[in-house]
Amino acid sequence: MVKVHIETYGCTLNQADSDIMHAILRTSHEMAPSNAHADVVVINTCTVKGATENKIFERIRKLETGNRKLVIAGCLAANIPKIRKYCPRAPIVTPSSLMHISEAVDDALAGRPMLYSAPESKEGLPRILTAPICRIPINDGCVSSCHFCQTRLARPFLRSYTPKTVVKWMNDAVLGGAREIQLTSQDSGAYGLDIKTNLLTLLDAIANDDSSGRVEGADYLVRLGMINPEHAKRMLPGILDALRGPRFYKFLHVPVQTGSEKVCREMNRDHTVRDFYDIVGAVRGAFPEASIATDIIVGYPTETEEDFEETLELVRRSKPEVVNVSKFSPRPGTAAKGLKEIPNLIVKRRSEVASALTKEITKERRMRYVGRRLRVLVSEKEKDFKGRAVNYHQVVVKGFSGKLGDFVDVDIYDANLGSLFGRAVE
Ligand code: SF4
Repeated sequence: MVKVHIETYGCTLNQADSDIMHAILRTSHEMAPSNAHADVVVINTCTVKGATENKIFERIRKLETGNRKLVIAGCLAANIPKIRKYCPRAPIVTPSSLMHISEAVDDALAGRPMLYSAPESKEGLPRILTAPICRIPINDGCVSSCHFCQTRLARPFLRSYTPKTVVKWMNDAVLGGAREIQLTSQDSGAYGLDIKTNLLTLLDAIANDDSSGRVEGADYLVRLGMINPEHAKRMLPGILDALRGPRFYKFLHVPVQTGSEKVCREMNRDHTVRDFYDIVGAVRGAFPEASIATDIIVGYPTETEEDFEETLELVRRSKPEVVNVSKFSPRPGTAAKGLKEIPNLIVKRRSEVASALTKEITKERRMRYVGRRLRVLVSEKEKDFKGRAVNYHQVVVKGFSGKLGDFVDVDIYDANLGSLFGRAVE
């Protein structure tokens, strides 16, 4: 039997695509634990940043020289000419054509550089349901056209899974031992706009699931995926209602990208910075201990020092628990690609200043829990057990004798940038 290994890069949505490819391939191929054991390597790529893309092309070059048979999947499919330059013989499977992954593996063995890019629904496709953490995609694609973003070129079609399918996957996952469900998407706010439904209907279906598939007595928590401010603002009362329920982590990931209204317009974002402040205010008002995550880009070509200062001010005022700071990188095929770039040294300095500020605020937000008792879902085991509090703060749990997927009360005695530290109350 042909041995296949999947190497995955990028976001939770891309990992969920690997779960689909794995489930399809294992019916007719042997899934190899590593490249070394594989006849064919499927590289599920990411293209969100230039640095990530360079790393992946370096990886491809290395595997190609090792005469590995490759299949290229994922968002790099937005740049086929470059893929063809690095690996002329590799079949390419775009994110919307995962159902062809088996044919692509056979093509790789036969040296046929096929391209699978037809936009087909993934609705009925099988998927690997992992535990205790399981990724459940709710939609592919978005309805925005941010000038810096290449992802939308790789995933140009908004494709939502029906609430029935999402709830079924969720129940199957919980039946299989999952206790943390990560709903994932490029933009959860766009969910359902292509199938005459919306995110609130889905959250309602999850919160009030009375389907026969529901697992009686199973306690699990659902993390809502990234949602853009324009959608979060439009559905805010309903989202806050859903988060009020026991099923959802008190966590919201709302990418704002900049604190400058001018740059926000120039990025072609569909929201204002004011919208973000309003969302944060409403969430903090409803749940003072909720966690807010956001993303910011520093060094966007039109960003002045004053604009950058506004971004720092946004972080100081809104105090997000998590801030993903990225340096602008011009992505092929995007509107921002043609803009005159800011010198690297300035971008590097802005990135360092922004990262230092966000770390300071993250630590400050975490220190508030020292001396408190928190309920934690234990979901990982490395050197120590780790889990998530109801507001999605990561907690290292000492003295825990239960099993992954259990909830436990934990007395917090310390915190650092990455985590809270506590002792299990047993
Ligand atoms: S919302 Fe914007 S940044 Fe996000 S995937 Fe769509 S175009 Fe890209």
